[in-house]
Amino acid sequence: MKIPELIYSTVTNTCARCHQGKVFENTNPYNFKNAFKLKNSCSECNLKYEKEPGFFYGSLYVSYALSSGFFMIWFFIDSFWLHMDAINLALIVTATILLAFPLVHQYAKLIWLNFFVKYDKKYAKVKQKKEDTTSISPDTRNVNVQAGN
Ligand SMILES: [Zn+2]
Repeated sequence: MKIPELIYSTVTNTCARCHQGKVFENTNPYNFKNAFKLKNSCSECNLKYEKEPGFFYGSLYVSYALSSGFFMIWFFIDSFWLHMDAINLALIVTATILLAFPLVHQYAKLIWLNFFVKYDKKYAKVKQKKEDTTSISPDTRNVNVQAGN
């Protein structure tokens, strides 16, 4: 696991192995229709996301770390600039954690997946090869000819 690969995969909601297929059904964590729904496997490289039952329970540790990060940020902002009393600080931290929960939930699972699956260029190239072969397929040539007439 390399940090830039982890960040790319997490922010773009893409498979840890190929960086092509989506992990969550919905990329927008604030669209509650199916924002928390994980796909079973990668559409591009067939990586099974949930390696074993309960695999993503471990992402709670990542979620805890990210939420603690919000607390640390607010704590330093308060210590150096705002100087609020403890109740206001607690309310702001709680509100931030609640508002950020959907994003933190999604990022925690993606980061957890990246802990166990390495990015592999070999799988990323599979899709590029597929696109190369489809771009010169006879079907698309026929469409182009018809469009030209
Ligand atoms: Zn993949």
